[in-house]
Amino acid sequence: MSNNQTATAAATADYIPPYPPLVDTHGRTFDYMRVAVTEKCNLRCTYCMPEEGVDFMGKDTLLTTDEFLRIIKAVAQMGIRKVRFTGGEPLVRKDIVRMVEETAATPGIKIIKMTTNALLLPRYVHRLKEAGLTGLNISLDTLNEEKFLRITRRKGLKETLDAIDEAVEVGIPSVKINLVAMRGFNDDELLDFCEYTKDHPVTVRFIEFMPFDYEQMWETGGNFLSAEQMCNMIKEAYPNIEDSSGTRTEHHMFKIPGYAGKVGVIPAFTRSLCVNCSRIRLTSDGNIRNCLYSDKEFGLRDMIREGCSDEDIMEKFREAFQQKAKDGFIAKKESEEKPVDISALTKKGDDSTLHVRKSMTQIGG
Ligand code: SF4
Repeated sequence: MSNNQTATAAATADYIPPYPPLVDTHGRTFDYMRVAVTEKCNLRCTYCMPEEGVDFMGKDTLLTTDEFLRIIKAVAQMGIRKVRFTGGEPLVRKDIVRMVEETAATPGIKIIKMTTNALLLPRYVHRLKEAGLTGLNISLDTLNEEKFLRITRRKGLKETLDAIDEAVEVGIPSVKINLVAMRGFNDDELLDFCEYTKDHPVTVRFIEFMPFDYEQMWETGGNFLSAEQMCNMIKEAYPNIEDSSGTRTEHHMFKIPGYAGKVGVIPAFTRSLCVNCSRIRLTSDGNIRNCLYSDKEFGLRDMIREGCSDEDIMEKFREAFQQKAKDGFIAKKESEEKPVDISALTKKGDDSTLHVRKSMTQIGG
């Protein structure tokens, strides 16, 4: 355990958040924040953004490193204990190790994870471990070189596989693979990924495709593969497969007897996991998104730059989660019904704003 981790564990072990937990009107408590630290990425996955990228926001629009860290420290005071750095690709940020280190040193934060495509990971993996990173989710949708090029529009399959092995060797406590399952693209490889867990102590997670692809594929239809269909494929191939445990969103977790790793299926579009929702999203421009499917967002950046207090920050989170819908379907419907006329809303005491983000790189997954 690194010095930093020892310090963190000590600081966190008996930390009691000074403010009440963040809850919504459906009895859920939120203790997990996904922080999108950039929109930029070194890949161009066809289910996320076009070759030319998205309409990237200007530097002044994005939160600074200190603003990100301030928000993390503020929410830790109301019981947020898990932070995941996402993007875009978080490793394109030169200060990512500092962000992990300072987050790890924040009393109350026990779990620090990152979702990455791992192409830049070899440069950082040792320092991230030292800084206190507790887990990596590595995006990989195929084990086929040609298909890797087709789906990411870049080369890098071998580098990604090597980076996964290195993350395990370096001793990152939790290493997982995120695969976006698409019919007609990688549904014929799901069992190859199950076999990959035979000798690799990683969790392979099959995630339902979601409509945040900048209108590239979803509209064409025909490529959605449901969690139920994936579970049936796995159980048919491995009749002796055992149920296993996972995180709150890892709705279906399996272990093939004698295999080193595990297999999970995430109903991210079916949204049968909303009853256990525990996650907050912070966008790279400083907006709180209380649900992946809600376009209603609550701004933090300007109020921070106008000198607000930590209590004001926490209050904004409470306001956002008091308006959180029961599930992702209702959240989507409410977003579509939300009048564009902001003044009508502020009269109702609802100062959220509407942000239709078409690409996952603009939300942070
Ligand atoms: S769809 Fe929304 S409510 Fe459901 S789990 Fe995802 S973020 Fe939570």
